[in-house]
Amino acid sequence: MGFLSFFVQDLAIDLGTANTIIIQDDQVVLDEPSVVAMDVKTGKMIAVGHEANLMLGRTHEGIKVVRPLRDGVIADFNAAEMMLRGMIKNIHGRKSWFNFNTSMRMVVCIPSGSTEVEVRAVRDSSEHAGAHEVYMIHEPMAAALGVGLNVEAPEGLMVVDIGGGTTEVAVISLGGIVTFQSIRIAGDVFTADIQSYMRHQYNIRVGERGAEEVKIQVGSALTELDNPPQDFVVRGPNLMTSLPIEIPVSYQEIAHSIDRSIAKLESGILGVLEKTPPELYADIQKRGIYLTGGGALLRGLDKRFSEKINIPFYVVEDPLHSVARGTGMVLKNVNRFKFLIK
Ligand code: ADP
Ligand code: MG
Repeated sequence: MGFLSFFVQDLAIDLGTANTIIIQDDQVVLDEPSVVAMDVKTGKMIAVGHEANLMLGRTHEGIKVVRPLRDGVIADFNAAEMMLRGMIKNIHGRKSWFNFNTSMRMVVCIPSGSTEVEVRAVRDSSEHAGAHEVYMIHEPMAAALGVGLNVEAPEGLMVVDIGGGTTEVAVISLGGIVTFQSIRIAGDVFTADIQSYMRHQYNIRVGERGAEEVKIQVGSALTELDNPPQDFVVRGPNLMTSLPIEIPVSYQEIAHSIDRSIAKLESGILGVLEKTPPELYADIQKRGIYLTGGGALLRGLDKRFSEKINIPFYVVEDPLHSVARGTGMVLKNVNRFKFLIK
């Protein structure tokens, strides 16, 4: 190892709408919610990641907590940049010599439907956060690589990545994305469905974090599961009386509450299949469809999609990290991958 390479701390970044994951040297060095808290008056950053997430829904007027990528694109450039900077600083925390690094490279993934303005924004943010060279890769491509698929083969493969703000559906062949769609139905919508179900059914007020917990504990895409989870007790104030109540909820109820959103996802996936050329469609039919992103962890989702669409769906190993892993693989050899955006 040369003297200079000691200073080079190249980073691969999955800048997700819900979670940001940073990989360095094949190791996950940061895995935190994509959240930043700032001082309303001074505009200065107060906290990022886990720490900022704890403040979500618990602030007073002096503090603003935002998820800068909420709907899949960078909704708040300034906040996104602040968050990225804060996170990178946290990784390199104690190593002050990091500041002398003038050759840091970053590979950052972006949604497949990103506009030029959005690509520019990610590049600018990365440069301001200290990157000397920035490469970008489309998320579904990174996901496929991270799963270990051969994206450069003359064979169609389909990836469905269900994140927080968006679901990315893409067909890949020969190192490129052939057809894709970014659908604004994903984990956040399921969470909102649960919140409104609890309100209407039980008159109970549940915050976003509370509803997400319900989703993780008893979320389901099917009303009949082979391994059903136990009912989960939700606590909160009664809407009318403000008195505390406790309601046990079952996975069947949650399945009903998110049913319509999942049906919309199904139409979105079918829409992409419709646009897919027949040779590639046949490949996909034969090999199945890969489900990734945190939303892929919803109980019964693979089964429900498989039955509805009549093509097998497989949940990949470690769906929360496949995009980051793929981005990390690219970082190790940026010269090899022709589909990188520079
Ligand atoms: P992004 O790439 O947009 O940051 P992720 O792939 O990190 O999103 O997935 C985050 C989403 O996955 C969130 O909406 C979260 O609630 C959801 N999620 C995480 N774990 C589970 C689970 N076990 N069941 C259902 N949804 C989950
Ligand atoms: Mg993602």
